[in-house]
Amino acid sequence: MAGNPKIAVIGAGLGGTVAATLLTKAKFDVRLYEQAECFSRLGAGIHLGPNVTRIMREVGIEDELNRTASHPDFWYSRDGVTGEICAKIPLGDYALKQYGSTYLTVHRGDFQQLLTEAVPAGILDFNKKLQKVDDLGDKVVLEFTDGTVEYADLVIGADGVNSVIRESLLGPELPQHTGYIAHRAVFNTPGIQLDLPFDMCTKWWGDDRHMMVYYVTKQQDQIYFVTGVPGGENWDMNKRWVPSTKDELREAFRGWHPTVQALIEGADEITLWPLLELAPLPLWSRGRLVLLGDACHPMKPHMGQGAAMAIEDAAMLTRCLIETGPASYEQAFKLYEKNRTARTARVQSVSHDNTWLRTDEDPDWCFGYDVFSVPLVNI
Ligand code: FAD
Repeated sequence: MAGNPKIAVIGAGLGGTVAATLLTKAKFDVRLYEQAECFSRLGAGIHLGPNVTRIMREVGIEDELNRTASHPDFWYSRDGVTGEICAKIPLGDYALKQYGSTYLTVHRGDFQQLLTEAVPAGILDFNKKLQKVDDLGDKVVLEFTDGTVEYADLVIGADGVNSVIRESLLGPELPQHTGYIAHRAVFNTPGIQLDLPFDMCTKWWGDDRHMMVYYVTKQQDQIYFVTGVPGGENWDMNKRWVPSTKDELREAFRGWHPTVQALIEGADEITLWPLLELAPLPLWSRGRLVLLGDACHPMKPHMGQGAAMAIEDAAMLTRCLIETGPASYEQAFKLYEKNRTARTARVQSVSHDNTWLRTDEDPDWCFGYDVFSVPLVNI
C-alpha cells in the first residue's frame, strides 16, 4: 500500500468516534460515516471505569468528564427486598489511587456529545448509511443509501449490533435475544426520605432481575436506572426500543424495597430495550475489513462494560496499526484480534451470567487494564 492509507470508520457511536479520533491523532487519513442525521440526548446513563477514563485522557476529554460526571465513592450491591448490603466496592479516591484514573457515571448523551466534539474537524459525515461493502483486494468500495459511493484502503466496522460489515464477513447471522429486557429512565432526582438508603451507585438484586441506579451529573440532580428483567421473547427486531410505563415497573418490582419503589414513582419517560448477544465470532477481520465493539461482541449490559470494550478495541486497533505499520494491515488486524478476544469473551461471559460485583470481589482485572501499556501477545 503506497502512502498513507485511507481508513473509513463506519458508525460514529462510542467505539467509532474513539477509533476515528485516535487514528487521526496518530496521523492516519480517516473518514467517519454515521447513518444518523444527528445524535439526540437519549435517556440513558453509562459507567466509565478507570479502564475507559484513561483512554479519554488520550482522546482529550478526561478533564471535562471529571468536571461534569458523577464520581461515586462506592459501588453498592443491595438485596432488592431488604436493602441489606451484599457488596461494597471502593471507587472514588481509591480507584484514582489504585488505577491512576477515575470511575465515573455520566449521561450517555453528554458522553456521546463530548466524544463527537473531540472528533477532528472535517472527517465526520452524518446521514451516511452504509448499505453495501465490497473488498476488491486492492481497495474497498462503500455504497451508501443516498446513492453515493466512496473508496477506502481499510474499513473499520464500528456499526453496532446489526453491523453491515459483520454481515459481509460472516453472513447474515442475527444477534440472539437473551430472553431479557431492560427498562431505562433518566429523571430529576426525587426527594427521598432520609431513612432510605440512597447511595450514589447501587445495584439492587433479586433472583432473576435487578435494578442498577446512579447519578449522571456531578451535582446529582439527575438520576438513572436500568433494569434487567426476564421477557421480550416476541420482540419485533425492527424496533430498537419501545416506550414503557410505571405500571410495568411496579409489576416487575412488586414487593421490592421502598427506595426502588420511590425511584419507579420518580421516573417520567421510561423506555424498554431488548438485550441481545452473539456467541464469540470465529473471526473479526478479513482482508481490508475489521470489526470493533458491538459489531463483533454484543453482550448483555450487566457489567456496564459493553461500551468500554468498544472503546478499548478502538485504542488497541490504533496501537496495532502503529505497531506493524499500515502496509502490514492484515498483521495489524490479527495482532489486534489476538490481544482482544480473550478479554472481550470474558466480559461477555460475566455479563451473561450477571454476577459482576454482586458480592465483594476484586475488580482489578477489569478496571486495571491499560490498553496502552499492556504487553502485546504476539501472533
Ligand atoms: P454503538 O454505540 O451502537 O454505535 C454504532 C453506530 O453505528 C451508531 O451510531 C449507529 O447509528 C451507526 N451505524 C449502524 N449501522 C450503520 C450503517 N449501516 N451505516 C452507518 N452508520 C451505522 N455499555 C457500557 O459500557 N456501560 C453501560 O452502562 C451500558 N448500559 C447499557 C444498557 C442497555 C439497556 C443497553 C442495550 C446497552 C448498554 N451498554 C452499556 C452497551 C453499550 O451501549 C454498547 O456496548 C456500546 O454502545 C457499543 O458501542 P459501539 O460503538 O460498538 O456501537
